[in-house]
Amino acid sequence: MSSDTSSTQFDISIVGGGMVGAAIALALGQAGLQVALVERQLPADFIAGSLPDLRVSSINLASEAWLTELGAWQALSKMRLCPYQRLQAFEQPHSVVTFNAADIKRTHLGHIVENNLLQQALWQQFGSKVQLFCPASVTALEQNADSAVLTLDSGKQLCSKLVIAADGGNSQLRRLAGIGSNGWQYRQACLVALVNTPYPQQDVTWQQFTPTGPKAFLPLNGQQGSVVWYEEATKVKQLAALSPAQLTQQLINAFPPQIGEVQVVASSWFPLARMDANRYYAGRVVLAGDAAHTINPLAGQGVNLGFADAKLLTELIIDARRHNDDIGSVQLLQRYQRKRKPANLLMMSAMDGFYQVFGNDIAPLRTVRQLALSVASRSTLLKTLVARYAVGSE
Ligand SMILES: Cc1cc2nc3c(=O)[nH]c(=O)nc-3n(C[C@H](O)[C@H](O)[C@H](O)COP(=O)(O)OP(=O)(O)OC[C@H]3O[C@@H](n4cnc5c(N)ncnc54)[C@H](O)[C@@H]3O)c2cc1C
Repeated sequence: MSSDTSSTQFDISIVGGGMVGAAIALALGQAGLQVALVERQLPADFIAGSLPDLRVSSINLASEAWLTELGAWQALSKMRLCPYQRLQAFEQPHSVVTFNAADIKRTHLGHIVENNLLQQALWQQFGSKVQLFCPASVTALEQNADSAVLTLDSGKQLCSKLVIAADGGNSQLRRLAGIGSNGWQYRQACLVALVNTPYPQQDVTWQQFTPTGPKAFLPLNGQQGSVVWYEEATKVKQLAALSPAQLTQQLINAFPPQIGEVQVVASSWFPLARMDANRYYAGRVVLAGDAAHTINPLAGQGVNLGFADAKLLTELIIDARRHNDDIGSVQLLQRYQRKRKPANLLMMSAMDGFYQVFGNDIAPLRTVRQLALSVASRSTLLKTLVARYAVGSE
């Protein structure tokens, strides 16, 4: 790598150009701030007809609305995505609780999107509004009262009023800023498989709760879907080592009949971790997305929480700039932390409660969850509330 030890001044430097970091860069760039984005690898180009990314996310209506304001949703729609109108939860295949978009007078409850396409859609909007440093990574961070300086592996230095760490759950910037975290690795991991299904385009995402962990189906564009299988980590690793044909057989045996005669095309596995940063800022470094919190993906909320962080943080920064205030002030960062940390913690704890109640075979808890699903299936009000929560509006 050539060495460039020059120093450039920006308003904001962002480390990590995944879905959350890219959305922050775009929002601030569109508002006229001088933005640098440091990302270690270029997102893959979209090729029509290519296999879908194995990493997919359920994107709620609140995130969709913000991404539409940014102009990225329109670009994503031209690539590939799949709306779903129904969300089903059940323990036994015959006792399904269904949440409908129509119940809350919406056309859909959310979309399943491929992570790399959403990232690509955001990057396509950068134009000259965001200065990219990619591939690049950070070797040092220095801070003083007025600014923060990042040194890149090329030797180049980026000096800015605020550094935003959006570099994922294993955030290097969080460590460089001296922010500790707490959390744990769940005993379960999850296998994710891309499958061909025998059914025409599906509009339902479903999740079966079993004592060894949930089994979920997420529809993708056309006759494809994403299957998520939560199990003990050792079992998941064994499943991941199987050939597509062997895994297909295991899947059909273990999943409820709703899955149909699927065929596995590709698969991978992911460890599951919970991580909560002790604080969301230190000096002029602030955390957003998975760098601040990593949540059990059970209810598909991780990146939606990240977009909620990103939206609030960018609004506060844009407002401060409008009033000629310091865009990296303690007051601004405190306001961000005060609003987002409790909201993220609440969702993490709710997911852990879910994980405890639905992920085991202790008799009293079995009764609780059967009762919960039975009440939910009969109560229109409860179903409406759950559906509203799932779309991110309540
Ligand atoms: C199996 C699974 C299923 C999930 N399903 C859902 C779902 O349905 N809905 C949902 O909302 N969420 C879901 N999530 C969570 C979601 O994937 C994450 O919340 C989301 O990816 C976080 O985005 P991010 O941009 O904060 O971080 P990341 O996606 O981790 O992006 C970080 C970026 O930073 C870059 N980077 C890292 N370190 C450096 C460095 N030192 N220098 C430069 N660049 C760096 C990386 O290359 C990457 O581009 C799921 C997670 C898993 C594991």
